[in-house]
Amino acid sequence: MTKQIIFAISLIITLGVFAYTINRLASYFRFTRPAFPVRNFGRRFGIMMEVAFGQTKIFRRPVIGFFHAMVFWGFCVILLGSVEMVIDGLAGTEKALKFLGPVHDFIMASGDIFALIVAVAIIIFLFRRLFLHISRFEGIEMKKRSHRDANISLSLILLLMLSLMSMNLGYMGYRETAGGQIDGIYPFAGMLLSVFPALSAETFNTIYEVSWWAHILTIFFFANYLPYSKHFHVFMSVPNVFLTRLEPLGKLDNMESITREVKLMMNPETAYAASPSDVPPQRFGVKDAEDATWKNYFDSLSCTECGRCTSVCPANITGKKLSPRKVMMDLRARMKEKGPLIVRSRSLSGGKEVNDNRSLLGDYISEEELWACTTCNACARECPININHPSLIVDMRRYLVLEEASAPGELKSVFNNIENNGAPWQYSAEDRMNWAKDMEVPVMSDLFARGEKPEYLFWVGCAGAFDDRYKKVVRAFAKILNHLKVSYAVLGREETCTGDPARRAGNEMLFQMQAMHVISTLKGYDVKKIITACPHCFNTFKNEYPDLDGNFEVTGYVQLLSRFIKEGKLDVSQLKGTKITFHDPCYLGRANEIYDEPRHVLNSLTNNFTEMDRNRSFALCCGAGGAQMFKEAEKGDKEIFIERTEDALKTGASVIATACPFCMTMLTDGLKYKNKEEEVKNLDIAELVVQGLGI
Ligand code: SF4
Ligand code: SF4
Repeated sequence: MTKQIIFAISLIITLGVFAYTINRLASYFRFTRPAFPVRNFGRRFGIMMEVAFGQTKIFRRPVIGFFHAMVFWGFCVILLGSVEMVIDGLAGTEKALKFLGPVHDFIMASGDIFALIVAVAIIIFLFRRLFLHISRFEGIEMKKRSHRDANISLSLILLLMLSLMSMNLGYMGYRETAGGQIDGIYPFAGMLLSVFPALSAETFNTIYEVSWWAHILTIFFFANYLPYSKHFHVFMSVPNVFLTRLEPLGKLDNMESITREVKLMMNPETAYAASPSDVPPQRFGVKDAEDATWKNYFDSLSCTECGRCTSVCPANITGKKLSPRKVMMDLRARMKEKGPLIVRSRSLSGGKEVNDNRSLLGDYISEEELWACTTCNACARECPININHPSLIVDMRRYLVLEEASAPGELKSVFNNIENNGAPWQYSAEDRMNWAKDMEVPVMSDLFARGEKPEYLFWVGCAGAFDDRYKKVVRAFAKILNHLKVSYAVLGREETCTGDPARRAGNEMLFQMQAMHVISTLKGYDVKKIITACPHCFNTFKNEYPDLDGNFEVTGYVQLLSRFIKEGKLDVSQLKGTKITFHDPCYLGRANEIYDEPRHVLNSLTNNFTEMDRNRSFALCCGAGGAQMFKEAEKGDKEIFIERTEDALKTGASVIATACPFCMTMLTDGLKYKNKEEEVKNLDIAELVVQGLGI
């Protein structure tokens, strides 16, 4: 009875402290902003089973992933055993779930085996942390406290496993020595017992009792230590994966408050009456913790500080200040600092704004960090618990641009150019068709005037229209369309920037103005199908325009080429012996999961296709996305495009194939920098197909 009373008191204290902590952390959710409605439970459940319980993203690094997965699965099994211990502790029973028969045997056996496996994995983790200086565990955000916290948590888990093993040993030893029945199966404890010195039944019982208490009290302590440590992810990661943002990685969320402003500006007469949800937020974008969405905050609480995101971030790899892990840790730290002040202010003065003269943006995260992001989504793709960093980074850029009119000078020029010329560069719309000089390229307005309607609109894009190198690519693609007699037309002078660089640089107002203008032009021509020549335009049309009522069937030119080849319409011959490698553009690959089509086209053209070490979803960004194309890179040790060019050169390929105007510019610059432009050619997939067709 004494044991039961002590146990019950310990449990009540544990649950009480835990509830207090969780309530405090949860109270901060009340003043975060809305993110997305949580629907599609079936799909969410599937993602949770695959990513959280199946540990699929952890296995992207197979060796260490294996050990981590073992720890996770071991924890799940051991947790079931712990439920029985709580029942035993409260009811004064022993092995209360033994009535489950084989199920109980299974839980006990797997818990016993996993205790050993988890202990071994934890010793490996501790060894790596203490002696191997893994670069992923370093960084300015990884203060001494972070390392100490990780080591304490790992040591506690090790203690849990050791106590479980000795508990099982004591239990089996006692039952075998005293001659009682053994409930459950304990393969490892049985093995251990066979080599263990013979002890009295009483000694085995003492080992059992001491280990039982050590195990359960460590669980109780650990449960209350976790919310103050990075290992809070033990509780948060599974729900965080369930609450994954379901949109493609390339899609940025629409700012409804801006949509309303733009609609009012463009058409004041038809402006709709404001509903409560239309009320503009106190400020646009994210300046401080309370401007973040509940999902950003959930992400920050779930972050394990594993550094997988930072280890693949092109900005971080090349020595810039940006670290996506730090962004998450900073939000969590700032909320911890400001949250109590807001809660207190709300209870005392009903919600007056709190100003402690500090903010997330500025005191924690610098503008330099934010402007270094290429929005390549490598971090989000890599994060084992589906945290999305780029959306928060862009939201902070939105604050800078929309509220402070602050952006690097080159980006301000880009905004002006888009606003005045409809392109990021200072070219006149009159010159938009120069790329098609001496070619038969149908223009939409001409066709309409003749009462004709093409099947496709070919969206050329600003680079295709104005960049001398990329003009050759769109010419090549138009040649193929003409060769196949595809029914298409271009907008010509009516084409304008989709707004992609403006949106990624935080100028949501300009993006939406451009988007609404484009959508209205396309609707005027009753366009249904669009072919894009640039992955950034593709992403914008496919993923972002639907939020603004622009719904079209969008196909990227590489997908179309692959389809034509599969259908036997494009009979390309092999470019004999040419060794080709392919650089995956971020907005084709990670943003939209298009990896196979470019490889299918290239494999039709050569029998000597070779991959870079970092390919497909692991591919390194070229450094131009997120409007980086138009500005100087932030200070670092190296330019991203040089790092990527080195990846390509390492393959020994004579052709680096690309499928994006920005990637083409960066890799061409990389080849020049490396003095390799004579030996290695940077060609677009469309140009290679034209070579293969001999047209
Ligand atoms: S989106 Fe790319 S550049 Fe930006 S933080 Fe993530 S990995 Fe780094
Ligand atoms: S954000 Fe994800 S990948 Fe990055 S440190 Fe946190 S858990 Fe790891």
